[in-house]
Amino acid sequence: MKKISIIVPCFNEEETIQIYYDTMTKLMSTIDKFKIEYWFIDDGSKDHTYPILRELQNEHPEDVHFVSFSRNFGKEAAIYAGLKEATGDYVAVMDVDLQDPPETLPEMFDILEEHEYDCVGTARMDRKGENVIISVCSNAFYGLINKMSQTKIIPGARDYRLMTRQMVNAVLSMTEYNRFSKGIFSWVGFNTKYIPYNNRERSAGSTSWNFWKLTKYAISGIIDFTERPLSLATWLGSIFSLISIVAMIAIVVRKLIYPMSSVDGWSSIVSIILLVGGIQLICIGILGEYIGKIFLEVKKRPIYIVKEKK
Ligand code: UDP
Ligand code: MG
Repeated sequence: MKKISIIVPCFNEEETIQIYYDTMTKLMSTIDKFKIEYWFIDDGSKDHTYPILRELQNEHPEDVHFVSFSRNFGKEAAIYAGLKEATGDYVAVMDVDLQDPPETLPEMFDILEEHEYDCVGTARMDRKGENVIISVCSNAFYGLINKMSQTKIIPGARDYRLMTRQMVNAVLSMTEYNRFSKGIFSWVGFNTKYIPYNNRERSAGSTSWNFWKLTKYAISGIIDFTERPLSLATWLGSIFSLISIVAMIAIVVRKLIYPMSSVDGWSSIVSIILLVGGIQLICIGILGEYIGKIFLEVKKRPIYIVKEKK
């Protein structure tokens, strides 16, 4: 019988773990085409997630495993840790808050069994219950990254997916420190089928994402998967050089035609200086973002640190 490893990242999820496990066991008791191993990743939670996971592992040592991080390393690191530990023929990534519909897992399994696809992902059809500003910004983000980057990202795609061992190994071969999973899953290629589903509420607890964290995540995704912003500096520089050459010629011509023309235009000069200064700072900022990423990458720090694994 084939085995599915389910990776479940948990950050401050004391309220949801038991609900998740009970729901899954109930559902899986009716399914006998595959067996399941769970890899709960405690991403440095500050609540009782860690002791709850230990207890759960104690009660069900045959199918429950966990890794506990020494601090919060982020969901991307948790996914990577889980992929490394997973031993299944197929590997799934699933949130613990039951926002990822577990009942689609058998369907995803069947699709992979037909050997036409290497991965089955899920994409939200609607954004019900989500903040309007966040929805507008996420749409803008997907538009922007898909325009700029060769790596295409399906709008609304969740991290919830089931992959073949071959695809998991490909993802594991990408050992970069800055891990933008949505991009990595797309970059490795393979055939992915997306199943649409309607958004649902968390089983309990609250989301650990806010507007600021999402913005940082979006910028980081763009920087990780396209160099296009870097060429923005070249373009802006070229345009402004061209404009200044035209302006210089205009000034010389004016001086030749009207030698006595008075000195004016203080405000226009100050505006131009401020504008060009601003653009230069933006360009240096973009450079800085990339250099910062290179800095983290060359240090070759571990992606996560394990406190306990069972
Ligand atoms: N998560 C994590 N580390 C973090 C933040 C979140 O492992 O730093 C986990 C969290 O426990 C949950 C999943 O990632 O299982 C998705 O998080 P959340 O439900 O807060 O995000 P949302 O569903 O609102 O996008
Ligand atoms: Mg959630």
